[in-house]
Amino acid sequence: MELKRQHLIDPVICIRCNTCEETCPVNAITHDDRNYVVDASICNNCRACVPPCPTGAIDSWLMSSRPWTLEEQFSWDDLPPEAKLEEGLESGPEPAEVTAIIDVATASTGGRVPPPFSAAHPYVNVYSRESPATARVAGNFRLTDPDAESDIHHVVLDFGIRPFPVLEGQSIGIIPPGVDDKGRPHNIRLYSVASPRDGERPHHNNLAVTVKRVRAKDDSGKLIEGIGSNYVCDLKKGDQVLVTGPFGDTFLMPNHPEANIVMICTGTGAAPFRGFTERRRRKAPDAAGKLLLFFGARTPGELPYCGPLMKLPPSLIDVNLAYSRVPGEPKQYVQDKMRERDTDLAALLKSEHSYIYICGLKGMEQGVEEALSDICRLHDLNWTEIRAQLRREGRYHVETY
Ligand SMILES: Cc1cc2nc3c(=O)[nH]c(=O)nc-3n(C[C@H](O)[C@H](O)[C@H](O)COP(=O)(O)OP(=O)(O)OC[C@H]3O[C@@H](n4cnc5c(N)ncnc54)[C@H](O)[C@@H]3O)c2cc1C
Ligand code: SF4
Ligand code: SF4
Repeated sequence: MELKRQHLIDPVICIRCNTCEETCPVNAITHDDRNYVVDASICNNCRACVPPCPTGAIDSWLMSSRPWTLEEQFSWDDLPPEAKLEEGLESGPEPAEVTAIIDVATASTGGRVPPPFSAAHPYVNVYSRESPATARVAGNFRLTDPDAESDIHHVVLDFGIRPFPVLEGQSIGIIPPGVDDKGRPHNIRLYSVASPRDGERPHHNNLAVTVKRVRAKDDSGKLIEGIGSNYVCDLKKGDQVLVTGPFGDTFLMPNHPEANIVMICTGTGAAPFRGFTERRRRKAPDAAGKLLLFFGARTPGELPYCGPLMKLPPSLIDVNLAYSRVPGEPKQYVQDKMRERDTDLAALLKSEHSYIYICGLKGMEQGVEEALSDICRLHDLNWTEIRAQLRREGRYHVETY
């Protein structure tokens, strides 16, 4: 009997965020409404999917005498026991061999983008679904105008005496209570931390999240209310919430005071940048590095943190807002605002101290990249080379969902 190591996904800790499925260069990962799974007949063990996974669920490699089928993986609540390798039996690739395959594959796919060199060391996966932290809701208020279409909330969670160490740019997982229509616990939902590492309120053991209530129509026109976002948006002061994480070890803020940080976002993508900006304001308001924000929304009433943002001094942050649905005004998107600032962006792209962060709606990075490419062309720079260098040096980060 030959044993082979098979790449699998741990259903207990997977938060069903789809990142791995989008990353896999050979489409070996698929999902149903229950589990994310790996097709053993397609997977070539390249590991390109491993670094971007926020939970580590993807990094599961078990020995088996025959490949577990997709149907078997879809039915799992937990990983099966690993087959034991008996003396004298053949085995599949060992971790060292797997790693060698990976190095080749990640080189060809651009590899993992490291964190900024000066970022503090993050704690990750301190709390899991089996052992979550309990937080108390210290406040919940609506950020968007009462008549705005999108309902976005600022929710502050207090961890009391339980340590919950986060850095700007990390996310937390929230476990919605109850079970789905098949009687299984709901999946964990991820939310970016919107406050700096020393707390929403300085030196308090709390943090903030920025959550948009999801209401979508299915193919038949039936209204679907998002489980996690509606749960969080409806929380009342004093409610208890089960929290996992923190997650994320690359989309982190550089600590270096000379770091120029270009932040490009839409909607709740502003959350991590609120953390970045507040960190700079509290710890290094006179830092030499620039903060440059490009923020898109449909209208001013739909732009979270619009009021407080406009009160920040221009010496701290250079704010560029783009609105796409203001009656009587031309539609503007973040990439339009970036093109208006081509000279400043080109100068920043030439600096080894510049970092670019993109956060918000899935798909937004395409327009942003086109704008950066156009700006480079206009200023005799090569965007392909600059982008590769930025990624290599941990200075180009994208988080879209
Ligand atoms: C790294 C990361 C960070 C994130 N940070 C944030 C954050 O800071 N703030 C935040 O609000 N969300 C954030 N999210 C998204 C969040 O985790 C949830 O996916 C989101 O709240 C929807 O979950 P739900 O349970 O409400 O909807 P679900 O119950 O999971 O979905 C209900 C239905 O709505 C559809 N749907 C889901 N999202 C949308 C959408 N945006 N527009 C239209 N239809 C949709 C689904 O396809 C589904 O059919 C983040 C996700 C990731 C991966
Ligand atoms: S190891 Fe490579 S081939 Fe296999 S699922 Fe991950 S990205 Fe796809
Ligand atoms: S948590 Fe990891 S394994 Fe699960 S869907 Fe996200 S990237 Fe894939």
